[in-house]
Parts: sequence; C-alpha cells; structure tokens
Amino acid sequence: MVLPIRLYGDPVLRTKARPVKDFSTIPQLAADMLETMYEAKGVGLAAPQVGLSQRVFVWAEYDDEVEEGEDSPAKILNEYVVVNPCLEIIEKTIVEGTEGCLSIPSIYIEGVPRPRVVRLHYQNERGEPQSMELEDFNARVVQHEFDHLESKLFLDLLPRSVLDEHRAELAKMQRDAKAFLKELKQK
Ligand SMILES: [Zn+2]
Repeated sequence: MVLPIRLYGDPVLRTKARPVKDFSTIPQLAADMLETMYEAKGVGLAAPQVGLSQRVFVWAEYDDEVEEGEDSPAKILNEYVVVNPCLEIIEKTIVEGTEGCLSIPSIYIEGVPRPRVVRLHYQNERGEPQSMELEDFNARVVQHEFDHLESKLFLDLLPRSVLDEHRAELAKMQRDAKAFLKELKQK
C-alpha cells in the first residue's frame, strides 16, 4: 500500500523517533514503505516521513547513482529494511554532495556536507542484528535517513544563505503540510 508522504512543516518530521520493540508489524510496514519509496522515485524513506515516529527506514542500492525524481528507472541491486540503527563514522573526511528529500519535493541542493564512510549497525525486519560499511553515495543515503529518525533534515546542514533562496517554496510546503494535517484530523 502506498502511504501519503508527510511534508516539510509536519511536526512528525521534527520528532525524535522511538525504538522498535515489537517487530510483528515491521514486515508489513517495510513493504508499504518500499512501495511508497519506489512510487515516489526515492532512494530512501524513513518512517517519520509516513507519519510514524518509529526507528525504521528503507533504502535501495542502485547500479548507478540516481537522483530522487529522475525519470529513467535505474536497476535496483539491493533493498534494505533498517530498524533501530546506530551509525559509526569510519572516515572523518567530509565530502559534499547534492541531496533532495521526498518530504521536501522538488528542492535539490548541492554542497551538503557528510562524512564519506560510515558503518551502519541495525536490525532487519525480523529483528536480526546486521552491520554494513558504506561509502560515498550509499553512505550519504543512510546518513540522510538516519537523520530523519533523529528529527533532523538535510536543510539543517546548510548555511542560512542557501536556505533563503528556497524560502518561498519551503513556506508553501509548510502551508500544504498544515492543510494535510487538518484534512487527516477530519477523517
Ligand atoms: Zn529525506
């Protein structure tokens, strides 16, 4: 089932997500989140982005680097369900790259600084412990998704002058997020 994606301005995106203790609902949630992510042409999606304050994200590894929103479908090499993650920085070298976010549609910004190599410790959808080392683009994706669980957005890593260029679009998203929440309440 494709889930509605929460927009910039929705308080759930600024709420620290809770650890998962009961894994019984996770396989279905993960399947829905992957379906939602592919439908939106994303490379990663965190549970707060579908309104759930739980420490879960999904992401996919493609055979080529793809930008969110790109039209030509890249081949999916692997897809991952990440629960209760912990991030270890392996290489402190900071690299800059372009990022976008499904909760901040149509805004792509260059120069987002991130450590180049990380190790991700997590549980899969069945609660089994996993660990993997990631670099460059994939390291960026998991750091971006991990930040969602910590209530952070990639915009937080950018100087105010860069954000000012997008102020009007961001203000519109905040209004849309408010309208969506109002609609949700009435249901
Ligand atoms: Zn995002």
